[in-house]
Amino acid sequence: MKICEILANGRPSVSFEIFPPRRDVPFDGIRATVERLAHQRPAFMSVTYGAAGGASANTTAVASFVQSCGVPALAHLTCLAASHEMIDGEIAALRKAGIENILCLRGDMPKESSDASPGHFLHAVDLVRELRPHGFCLGGACYPECHPECEHVEVDIARLREKVEAGLDFVTTQMFFDNNIFYRYLAKLRDRGVTVPVIAGIMPVTNGRQISRICRLSGTYLPSRFKAIVDRFGDCPAAMLDAGVAYATEQIVDLFANGVNSVHVYTMNKPEVAERIMDNLRGILEPDRAA
Ligand code: FAD
Repeated sequence: MKICEILANGRPSVSFEIFPPRRDVPFDGIRATVERLAHQRPAFMSVTYGAAGGASANTTAVASFVQSCGVPALAHLTCLAASHEMIDGEIAALRKAGIENILCLRGDMPKESSDASPGHFLHAVDLVRELRPHGFCLGGACYPECHPECEHVEVDIARLREKVEAGLDFVTTQMFFDNNIFYRYLAKLRDRGVTVPVIAGIMPVTNGRQISRICRLSGTYLPSRFKAIVDRFGDCPAAMLDAGVAYATEQIVDLFANGVNSVHVYTMNKPEVAERIMDNLRGILEPDRAA
């Protein structure tokens, strides 16, 4: 099923992101994770793709397994290190596997200059243009706190608009921990003529130390309320799990309450975290079943 059709139904929905095993790691390990996540009845599951190879070999296989569990899959695809022939190969493999949805991404700049892009695709918009004629439902990434390489959020939004006009059906945000940042960004997008559905990306934080580093790199703002949680519970995994699930749940409830219907949870392949969040949301997502 195409994600644009799911988003059009106007009901609150939660989707999950997973990452595939590396090439040298047995595929079997991910099956149990996918099955447990699929059991939660997410709207769809997205499967990440390595910027320059790495785990990319398994993206289509995992996406295909997701669909065999009855959940629509969204396959991520990065283009920075790709040639036209490589993208053609990915399109053929995805189509053969029955995948209808692709998240079009540039990928992060490699640190090693020897890994530099062959230059066929400099930005995600180039990939969108390449994929548009093939009939997939296409998504892209967006950044409520501005992409770290971009000098100004208005410039970033203008480039996002160009990417959308090239053929995106929806966009998914980078994680954020302050919903007000998201609300202000969404209002700006609408004002600047970006009208496609925007899926809010939520990261449940269960590892305090890791998140401080990730936020430093991505420029994501950590509210003082969130910092206090990490400072107090960051060294105790059980407490951090409780607090991380509670914080993410509160963010999601607030988003739904304010009319944002689509939330994407960065599950980090931790089904126990996703299960606890979904338990907290069951009455909102499935009021008839929960009654
Ligand atoms: P782009 O849209 O190309 O933007 C990148 C930068 O270039 C921005 O600063 C933008 O302002 C600028 N830009 C865009 N167009 C132009 C133009 N025409 N001229 C000049 N500048 C321009 N990475 C992975 O490797 N694998 C994944 O599976 C993955 N999944 C992700 C999922 C989500 C929801 C998000 C938010 C990110 C994901 N990423 C993933 C990370 C992503 O690859 C990086 O953030 C990357 O740095 C930018 O990718 P993009 O698709 O947003 O790039």
